[in-house]
Formats: sequence, structure tokens, C-alpha cells
Amino acid sequence: MSGKLRLTVLGSTGSIGTSTLDVAARHPDRIEVRALSAHSRVDELVAQCLQWHPRHAVVTDAAKAADVARRLKDAGCRTEVLAGPEALCEVAADAEVDAVMAAVVGAAGLPSCLAAARAGKRLLLANKEALVVGGAVFMRAVKDGGATLIPIDSEHSAIFQCLPEDRRTWAQRVDHIILTASGGPFRQRDPDSLEAVTPDEACAHPTWVMGRKISVDSATMMNKALEVIEARWLFDLEPSRIRAVIHPQSIVHSMVVCRDQSVLAQLGTPDMRVPIAYGLAWPERIESGAQGLNWTALKALTFEEADERRFPGLFLSWHALQGPLGSTAVLNAANEVAVERFLAGRIGFMDIYRLNARALSEIDPRLGPQAGVDDLIDLDQRVRVQVGQWSDATGR
Ligand code: NDP
Ligand code: MG
Repeated sequence: MSGKLRLTVLGSTGSIGTSTLDVAARHPDRIEVRALSAHSRVDELVAQCLQWHPRHAVVTDAAKAADVARRLKDAGCRTEVLAGPEALCEVAADAEVDAVMAAVVGAAGLPSCLAAARAGKRLLLANKEALVVGGAVFMRAVKDGGATLIPIDSEHSAIFQCLPEDRRTWAQRVDHIILTASGGPFRQRDPDSLEAVTPDEACAHPTWVMGRKISVDSATMMNKALEVIEARWLFDLEPSRIRAVIHPQSIVHSMVVCRDQSVLAQLGTPDMRVPIAYGLAWPERIESGAQGLNWTALKALTFEEADERRFPGLFLSWHALQGPLGSTAVLNAANEVAVERFLAGRIGFMDIYRLNARALSEIDPRLGPQAGVDDLIDLDQRVRVQVGQWSDATGR
């Protein structure tokens, strides 16, 4: 062991992945990159490997992996290229890795998150969908594997930063938590005009720069719905103790309301390198590259309720948390299919909500109390097929 943090970045070509490498590049004395992974952006992966010389690189598709391997070999880079989803699990559980940044998008990230959890890694969790699908099964894997789970999602990082290090005191101290949401690009838009919005309009986020899937989720506020579910598991809170409020400036990243009604908040510029740096260095603090807050230029910090007519998807989270086991996996799978189809121009913006609500009310998860991860993955697949059929029937 070299003394450096040996890091694997799953989803290194994405928004969180590149921000993670940006922070890591500021700390060559304490962070060493062991593995990287990509799905479609292989040119970026090749460039990352030539910069970082990781031991492993993973590409989902075998033909693309062979192409990356050839290009790296020609350039004299000795990175071993692995192919397929199983290889993601292998590099996540590698005995010579200390920390895993889980930044694959969607439920596709669940198996590798579980592998890292079971192998007892420091697991930097950006992939909220894994927790929404995996729920109790995922948290059990973290406990059994002795993993250290550190949230990267900015709201959950904020809550985590406000709470004491000793988790055993959380339940006694916390009255409720408040997740902040920017309200996305349609916060003030006439709800009747939302049917017609385009993918590019939905992806034009006012305060954060992110991947396309999460940008659409922010525009529908399904992102906050997924985050309510994420918080339920991360902080072991009943759903009634998790609230969401719109805060358009994205400066207050979330708040903890203590038993005595004292409120603790974490503030900063909207830059994911802050929670990423915190996750990499925890419990220490390191430079992240983010700009500091300019206090005198801050005109106002405002807060408002989310309008149910504009953001009906938000309220599905509490509904799913009260449903039978597997309901949150149903909601997540439906949403992934719906967002993909919306981005492909096959359904309208408000169809995303309609498909999610229909999936939640009509699909029976049929999971017993002993359900494991394979049952959740089967359920995820079943929902995708069903929602795909509904969308074909109603889409453009
Ligand atoms: P991006 O779409 O920018 O990146 C996703 C990454 O996952 C890419 O490296 C992509 O590869 C890879 N990937 C996509 N599909 C698959 C697949 N089927 N198998 C393996 N790898 C795959 O997403 P973000 O970085 O925005 O988000 C990543 C996760 O972090 C999401 O779960 C999101 O909800 C969460 N998150 C993101 C935030 C943000 O600010 N971006 C904030 C908080 C949470 P490739 O690019 O090569 O196709
Ligand atoms: Mg977030």
C-alpha cells in the first residue's frame, strides 16, 4: 500500500466522472487512479487512460473495448482493458482499490455499487438510482461488507456534512431534513405549456451543469423524488421526516432541522467538485477547485413550495415509499424508460409523469420479504418492458 487513496472511477467519462478526475488531478500526492470506465464515449476514455495510466479500464461493449485496447497499446499505455458489466463489478471489488466513485447513470450502476459495498470499500455514491432500486438490500450489503458509504449527491452530502460523524446519534438529534431543489428550468413556466417543451429546453438547467438524464429529472423534479428516496435509506429516516423545498439560487444545498428546531445548513457555490472533494478526503478537507461564495454579491436566498400542478412527479416519491417492497424500483425503472424516450423525441414532457404514475399504480412488484438483488433486477426489467409498451401505444 503506497499511502495514497487508490481510486476507481466508474462512469469516468460522465459529468461526475470528469469532475472527480479534475479534483484528483489537484492531489497527485494523495490520490492514485486505479480504474476508469466508459459506455459510449471511448475517445474520452482513451484520453483519460493516456493521462492517468490506470491499471484497468472497462468498456461495456466488447468490440469497443477491443478498439480501446488497440489504441492504448499503439500509444504505449499498459492499461488492461476489460469488457462487459461484470468487469465493472470486478474493478469495483479489486483488493488493491480503497475507494470507488460510483458515477454510472441509472440502475445499470447497481451491481457494481453492490460489489464495492460487499468488498468493504469507501463507496462514494453519486449513482442515486442504485439506492432507489436497491433500498434495504443495498444498505444491508454496505453493513455486511463493512463499507463506508459517503453520499456525493450535493443535497445528501450537505446533510452528511451537517450531521455528527457518529451515526448512532443521528436518530436522536434529527427532527427532519429539508432537501433543497433549484426548481429547474420550468419553475415559473405556465403548467399548461409544459406538454410542448423540447429535450434541449428541459436540459438547459439554470444553476447546475449535469448529464442529460439527470437534467431532465431536474426539470420534472423527479430528481428530487429520487433524492427523497435516497435520503430515506442513507439517513434511515421515515418518509414523513424528509421534506423538499425550492431554492432557486442553489446556494443552500440542504438543511437538517434538529429536535430543538435549530437548523444546520451547508452552503456553497453550485459545483459538484465540493461534495466530490469531501467524499475523497473525508473526514479531512481538501481543495476542490470550486469558486468561493461571494457573500456581498448574494442578493437573496429564497425558498418556495413546489407546485403540484407543475411538478406532480415530486410527490410520487412519498407514495412509492409507502407502497409494497419494490415500489421505488418500479418508479425508477419507469422513469428511466420515460426519460430515454423523451430525450429521443418519442414522447412528450408530461408523458414522463403519466408513465411513472401509471407504473406505480398498475405494476405489482410481487416481491416477498426475502427478495434479493436478482429479484429487484428482474422487476426492473419487467417494468422496462411494460412501460416501453405503454409508451409505444401513447407516444408520437
Ligand atoms: P452522465 O450521463 O454525464 O455520465 C454517466 C456515466 O455512466 C458515463 O461515464 C457513461 O459512459 C456511463 N454509463 C452510461 N450508461 C452506462 C451503462 N449502461 N453501463 C455502464 N456505464 C454507463 O451522468 P452524470 O455524471 O450526470 O450522473 C452520474 C450519476 O450521478 C447519476 O446517477 C446521477 O443521478 C448522479 N448525480 C449527478 C450529478 C451531476 O451533477 N451530474 C449530481 C448528483 C448526482 P459514456 O459517457 O461513455 O457513455
Ligand atoms: Mg442532487
